[in-house]
Amino acid sequence: MKGYIQVYTGNGKGKTTCAIGLSVRAAGAGLRVFIAQFIKSGDYSEVKALKRFSDLITLKQFGTGRFIKGKPSAEDIRSAQEGLRMIRQEISSGQYDMIVLEEANVAVTCGIIRLEDLLDIMAHKPDNLELVITGRNADPKIIEKADLVTEMKEIKHYYNNGVQARIGIEK
Ligand code: ATP
Ligand code: MG
Repeated sequence: MKGYIQVYTGNGKGKTTCAIGLSVRAAGAGLRVFIAQFIKSGDYSEVKALKRFSDLITLKQFGTGRFIKGKPSAEDIRSAQEGLRMIRQEISSGQYDMIVLEEANVAVTCGIIRLEDLLDIMAHKPDNLELVITGRNADPKIIEKADLVTEMKEIKHYYNNGVQARIGIEK
């Protein structure tokens, strides 16, 4: 089956949720999925949930878990670069039907992965691989090279009323 490049960006809720939904649907069809999660670390509920699909879905985290403000640490960069290396390795292994680059747009914005590296991965995607890229503030060049782009537009978010991320709902 021919694979396409999908991008989920924008300020509204639903980007990560969407990537997880796509992964579960793919697993339902017996497709094999690799999820590389940038920025984040730790047992988010989705990490725990996806362990139930471990025969088909592999999730690896390449973040330090610290929110990157200003200059990223050497550890943030090292971890993200390891993510890029493994993504390239898993793409060339040919054993996955879908690869999700979770929060990759944020990793580019933070400067822990280079835009050129992400564009290079997109340009050299095998024809039968579905590539899913998430994260707010997608670069215009990423949008240009994608086949499908959805912007989650915030109409309302309870975050603005002081509601922090809740376990099982946002994390
Ligand atoms: P979800 O994981 O629920 O699908 P998302 O992937 O679309 O959401 P992100 O942009 O990755 O959302 O946001 C991660 C977290 O940042 C959210 O779960 C929320 O707690 C917090 N957040 C949401 N809106 C804002 C905001 N306007 N400013 C700062 N933090 C926010
Ligand atoms: Mg997200």
